Amino acid sequence: MNIGFIGLGIMGSPMAANLLKAGHTVTGYDVSAERVDQLVALGGKGASSVVDAVGGADAVITMLPDSPQVEEVAPLVVEYARPSLLYIDMSTIKPETSRRVALRAAAVGVRALDAPVSGGERGAVDGTLSIMVGGAAEDVEAARPILSALGTTVVHVGPAGAGQTVKAANQLVVGGIYGLVSEAIVLLEASGVDPAAGLDVLAGGLAGSRILELKRHTMVRREFAPGFRIDLHHKDMGIAVAAAREAGVSLPLTGQVAQLVAAARAQGHGSLDHSALLKVVERLNG
Ligand code: NAD
Repeated sequence: MNIGFIGLGIMGSPMAANLLKAGHTVTGYDVSAERVDQLVALGGKGASSVVDAVGGADAVITMLPDSPQVEEVAPLVVEYARPSLLYIDMSTIKPETSRRVALRAAAVGVRALDAPVSGGERGAVDGTLSIMVGGAAEDVEAARPILSALGTTVVHVGPAGAGQTVKAANQLVVGGIYGLVSEAIVLLEASGVDPAAGLDVLAGGLAGSRILELKRHTMVRREFAPGFRIDLHHKDMGIAVAAAREAGVSLPLTGQVAQLVAAARAQGHGSLDHSALLKVVERLNG
């Protein structure tokens, strides 16, 4: 397929590369020309604007930071799309924005899906992302050949916006686990127990998680190169808290995790990996 790919950042770049490897033609656009050049070096085509990336495409993917960027780009995708184009937004944004984009797209026959991802940069590079898709069932099936080049778990979770709601649930769980792993490290070290040995045991038992598997060594070594930035997780905790309010439910632990992530950002750690939540828990403990 001819695929337009807009937003070639930490996630978008390797995802576009995997689409090339799967045999698709990928035309990429990013506000950073350097990012576009990197895709061209891998065999992709470079676009000089959103409109340039959309023209002639069978499908367009956006992988942008947040709702305002999607609100800026999506109307152009919809306006310049050929009829029945598949528009797959894979950014993590507010569910209500995805619902608005889908309505606007449907009005002109564009098939819009919200398909946020989990699995981080590693999952994007390896093509093993978990993808939660909101939209019409037949459109999800049409998008499956594209999505299966990007991820190993592709699940249709409901109508437009549902993908984003599942992603909000994912992010509150991830943030909570980082917070608790941080507390475990602080407790182990304060008690004179080797945290590396301690976390090895946790990783093999009921407390085991993908986060412990992938991140315990770097957390113990205090290596916080992103990965997924605190700034983005702060955005996602805001989405989770707002989604809870909209659904009329109380999520007290989510509220606490949101405040810890906000503290990490306020302490100047916004561009570090979200595992840098450990710095906040350490600071609480002097
Ligand atoms: P990033 O900041 O590395 O990439 C975003 C890219 O979009 C940048 O290259 C930026 O130049 C480009 N961009 C911004 N505005 C643009 C515009 N108007 N037109 C064209 N390009 C524009 O972010 P990322 O880490 O790749 O994350 C992208 C999305 O995926 C976010 O919503 C994030 O929450 C989500 N996500 C990230 C991860 C992760 O581990 N990094 C994991 C899962 C989901």
